[in-house]
Amino acid sequence: MAKGKASEGKKPHKNKPTSKKYSKYKIEGDKVTRERFCPRCGPGIFLMSTKDRVYCGKCHYAEFVSKKPEAAVEPEAK
Ligand SMILES: [Zn+2]
Repeated sequence: MAKGKASEGKKPHKNKPTSKKYSKYKIEGDKVTRERFCPRCGPGIFLMSTKDRVYCGKCHYAEFVSKKPEAAVEPEAK
């Protein structure tokens, strides 16, 4: 293959975007912490999360996240 411009039919290789599953694991000291996983699919299948919702792209499980944590819900004192 001396001539450089005779390559039709063969496309240049492109890397696909990875699943980034590794980014769901965080190491703190000697512990591994994982993001929330799907209760239907089990650990290893992580949930996509928005500010008010988590969603499984595999089984389409969705769960709404309340904005306030339960501990912060208190009756008004004043
Ligand atoms: Zn799932």
